[in-house]
Amino acid sequence: MPVLPRPLDEGEAENVRVVVRVRPMSEKEAEAGCRRITSVDTVHSCISVENPHAAEGEPPKTFTFDSVFDCDSRQMDLYNEIARPIVDKVLMGYNGTILAYGQTGTGKTHTMAGDCSAPELKGIIPNSFAHIFGHIAKAAERTKFLVRVAHIEVYNEEVRDLLGKDQKLRLEVKERPDIGVYIKDLSGYVVNNADDMERIMTLGNKNRMVGATAMNATSSRSHAIFTITIENAMAGEDGKQHIKMGKLHLVDLAGSERQSKTGATGVRLKEATKINLSLSTLGNVISALVDGKSTHIPYRNSKLTRLLQDSLGGNSKTVMCANIGPADYNYDETISTLRYANRAKNITNRARVNEDPKDALLRQFQSEIEDLRRQLEDAGLSAHGNDDGSEPELSDSEDVEEEAAKGRKRKTRRKSSQGESGDAQVPEAKEDSDEVQEEEELKELEDQERNEVELKKTLTEHEELREKLQTLERKILVGGENLLEKAQVQEQLLEASARELEQRKRKEEQLREALQAKEAELVDIEEKYSTLQDEATGKTKKLKKVFGLLMSAKAELNDLQHEQQREMEGMLDSVRSLSRELRLQETIIEAFIPQRYQAMIDNYMHWNEDIGEWQLKCVAYTGNNMRKQLSLHSAGPGHEYHPPDLSQVYLSYASERPVTARCGRRKSAEPSARPSSYR
Ligand code: ADP
Ligand code: MG
Repeated sequence: MPVLPRPLDEGEAENVRVVVRVRPMSEKEAEAGCRRITSVDTVHSCISVENPHAAEGEPPKTFTFDSVFDCDSRQMDLYNEIARPIVDKVLMGYNGTILAYGQTGTGKTHTMAGDCSAPELKGIIPNSFAHIFGHIAKAAERTKFLVRVAHIEVYNEEVRDLLGKDQKLRLEVKERPDIGVYIKDLSGYVVNNADDMERIMTLGNKNRMVGATAMNATSSRSHAIFTITIENAMAGEDGKQHIKMGKLHLVDLAGSERQSKTGATGVRLKEATKINLSLSTLGNVISALVDGKSTHIPYRNSKLTRLLQDSLGGNSKTVMCANIGPADYNYDETISTLRYANRAKNITNRARVNEDPKDALLRQFQSEIEDLRRQLEDAGLSAHGNDDGSEPELSDSEDVEEEAAKGRKRKTRRKSSQGESGDAQVPEAKEDSDEVQEEEELKELEDQERNEVELKKTLTEHEELREKLQTLERKILVGGENLLEKAQVQEQLLEASARELEQRKRKEEQLREALQAKEAELVDIEEKYSTLQDEATGKTKKLKKVFGLLMSAKAELNDLQHEQQREMEGMLDSVRSLSRELRLQETIIEAFIPQRYQAMIDNYMHWNEDIGEWQLKCVAYTGNNMRKQLSLHSAGPGHEYHPPDLSQVYLSYASERPVTARCGRRKSAEPSARPSSYR
C-alpha cells in the first residue's frame, strides 16, 4: 500500500528549515597542518567550500541555507535561533523535530546534548528543558501541564529503550489509525522539573554508550531519539476542558559517512549494511518528497523513517542541522552533507495543533485524581491531611483507639492480679462467677483488638490512597509554579542571549539592506556605459562571470559523477556481502532442514508490508518452539524427544492468526490500549 503525505488541507504549508554548523578545527587537525576549506557568510546565510584538488579556475562551491553557523558559534545562539521557535510551537500543541545530520566527529552530539558541566556548553536538549519549565512557570495559573520524556535508540534496525529496565529488550514499532505510529511497551517518564529531565537524559546517554560498547561498536552507528511530550489543558470558551499535545523529537542521527569497505565481516558487516539502510532510506524519503512526482514515499522501508514519518513531509515543524568539519581532508563528506541538506530544504510540512488527541494522559490522570479524591471524601477524609500536618480528625476512630488503649490496660491489670492471687484460697461459687465475668471481658478485649487491627488496615489503605493521589497530583503541573530550581540560571542565560541575538539580527538586517542597495547601484553604473572602453570592460567582467559559472557547473558535474561512482561502489559492496550471506543461509537450510519442511515453511511464510518483516503462521508450533515447550513440560530423565509432524500441527491450527517469525512467540494482534507505560 503506497504511503502518501497527509492531505494538503491540514495545517499551513511550511518548508523544513535547514541550517549548517561548522565545528572548529580540532587540535589534531591544526597540528597535522590541515587547511580550512570552508568560509561562512552569515549576512547572506551561505557557505562556500573550496575543493582542495580544484582544477584551474574552478570556483568554490556555494550553498545557501536558512542560517549558517561558523566555528565560533555559541550553543545558546544556536538554541535561540533554531530550537526556541520550535519549542515555543511544541508548547502550543504542535509537533516539532530537530535533527542533527553529518559525518561522525562533526559535532552532532555536541549540538544536541552538548556538555552539561557548564551552562554555556549545554546543547539543544538540556536547553529545551530550561525553556519548557521556564514557560510553565510563567504560564497562566489555570493552565495545567503534563510533561513526559522517552529516549530510544535505533541500532541495526532494532529499537532499544534507553530508559527501560531491560536494555536487551527490542521494541516493536506499531501503528494505529487513531494515534499513528508508536513504539509498543516504551517506557515514558513524567517529569516535573528541568533537573530531573537532565538526569534522565544523562542516564539514556550512558545506556547508549554501554550498549555500543557491549556490541563492539560506537554510538556513531546508532540513531538516538529523545522525545518530549507536552500536554496542556485549558478551559475553552465552551466551558469544557481542551487538551493540546505537542511532541518534540530531538534526533542525533548516526554518522552519515560511508562505512569503510575494509575489514567488515560477519556481524559487523550486517550492522554496516543495516545502518546504510536507515540513512539511505532517509535520503530516499527526502528525494521522494522533493521530486514532486513520487506517489510513494518509502517511510516503511526503515524503522527510523517510520518513526520520523510525521517529521518529514507531515505534521511537524522541522529543522535539520547539518554538521560539517572545516578541514580539507573531509571535502568529499562535507560536500555530500551539504548536498543532502540542500535537498531537505525543499520538503514541505503541514503542522497543525494536536487537539484532544486519543493518547493524551492528562485527562486520564485528572479523572484518576477525581476518583481518588471522591474515595477519600466518601471515607470522611480530606485529600491532603490537615493543614498543620497533624493526623486528620477521626472522631470515631480516635474513640476506638482510646477504648483499645483502655482495654489493653485492663488486660494487663487482670493478668497481674491473676498472678498475685494465683495461690490465694477463694470460695468456689465466687470463683465460677469470676470466671464467667473474666471470659466476657476477654471476649470484649479480643473484639476490641480485632477492631483495632481493622482500623489500622483502613488507615493504611487511606494513607496509600492519599499518597497515590499526591503522586498523581505532582505529575500535573500548574501554570505559574516555579519548577526551574537550578535550571533557572540556564533559563535566564538563554533569555539574555536571545535578546542579544535579536539586536545582532537587527544590525545584520540593516547591513544586508545597505549591501543590497550598493549592489543595485553597481548594476546601474555597469549598465550605463559612457564610452566604448567602458562597455568593453563591462563585457569582459560579464564574460569572466559566465566563465566562472561554466567552470563551477563543470566541477559540479564532475563531483556528482564522482559521488555517484562512490555510491554505486558502496551498493555493489553491500550486494556482494548480502549475496555471500544469502549463500551461507541457503547452505545451512539445505544441510539441516529436510526438503519436505522447506516447502512447508515456504507455504506458510508471508511478507508483512506493514511492519516490514517476514511472518510465519503458528510460529509457536514450529520445531524449536515445540522443543522449548517440551523441555519445559517433560524434562524427565530418559525422555526422548520426537519432533512433531508440522503438517498436522499446521492443519489443526491453520485458523490461528499469523505471528512474526523473528519473535518466536505468539503475539496478540491487538495493540495495547496505551502505547507506553508511564512511571
Ligand atoms: P558527532 O556526534 O557528530 O560524532 P561530536 O559532537 O562528538 O561529533 O564532536 C566531536 C568533537 O568535536 C567533540 O570533542 C566535540 O566537543 C567537538 N566539537 C564539535 N562541535 C564543536 C563546536 N561547535 N565547538 C567546540 N567543539 C566542538
Ligand atoms: Mg555523536
